[in-house]
Amino acid sequence: MEFDENAQLDTSQINDIRDQGGSGGGTFGASGAGGGPSMGTVMGASMISRLFGGGIGGLIAVGLLFFILNSCSHANDAKTQAQAPTNGVQNIASTCITGADANTKPDCRIVAAVNSTQAYWSKALAGSKTPYYQAPTVFFRGSVKTACGPATAAVGPFYCPGDQKVYIDLGFFDQLRRDFGAKGGPFAETYVIAHEYGHHVQHIVGYDKLVGRDRSGPKSGSVRLELQADCFAGVWARNAVATGFVKTITQADIEDGLNAASVIGDDRIMQTAGQRVNPEKFTHGSSAQRQRWLTTGFTTGDPNKCDTWNTNQL
Ligand SMILES: [Zn+2]
Repeated sequence: MEFDENAQLDTSQINDIRDQGGSGGGTFGASGAGGGPSMGTVMGASMISRLFGGGIGGLIAVGLLFFILNSCSHANDAKTQAQAPTNGVQNIASTCITGADANTKPDCRIVAAVNSTQAYWSKALAGSKTPYYQAPTVFFRGSVKTACGPATAAVGPFYCPGDQKVYIDLGFFDQLRRDFGAKGGPFAETYVIAHEYGHHVQHIVGYDKLVGRDRSGPKSGSVRLELQADCFAGVWARNAVATGFVKTITQADIEDGLNAASVIGDDRIMQTAGQRVNPEKFTHGSSAQRQRWLTTGFTTGDPNKCDTWNTNQL
């Protein structure tokens, strides 16, 4: 995938709090040394499905949760967090100027993906009963406090309906490759971003209210919500060039996106964690389902084809 080198990036859509050491941007205040389990050691992948379904106040993640064994002492937490400001974070407003930056710098790539996704939905929902309004993406590191409660990077990128923000620790993409064997690639990353913005669209339009108490199982409201967000991500990808930010998306890019979608399928995550695959615990859909709905979105380019709510063919 290549961004248009002349596209002007809008970093005002990003709230970069990586140099604030997981204090949550000051909005909720730091909670003292440690500030949460941010330094917990990630010990392999597993589902903690209780954390879904409103466990963190309705936080909607991309589908990855890890067991965190908090083996660091608080002293170590404080030390590590104190070092965060010098940990290589550059000011994105001065480094992410054009699409050429998005082609060469991973942070800027995410900025461009956010810009493109929001440009698409602004146009797609213009004139509708529920016009699009922008949601910022928060770049955090380690842990963050949100209107949906505190969260660590271990939950993966997520959208919080309570404050209408997307949250991401950019280290997630390394994790996706390292712990889940995803091939990665730029488009895989932008798919994840577009998925989260799909949740914002669902919140604007009101689809998220359809989930109700139906929080797990192969045809649950939760699975329908997630598969629709995958489909919306595909719709964006189909229309990404028209937003002016993206120059090309190739078939190889789409394959990378499908690969990412497959490694974060519920069945695959359960297998990776050494668990028996139990569809009754599905919250995001199987690998095959996630790939199918991403493909539906991409091949049609039409959000109306993403109706996961009125079909038995999930
Ligand atoms: Zn999701």
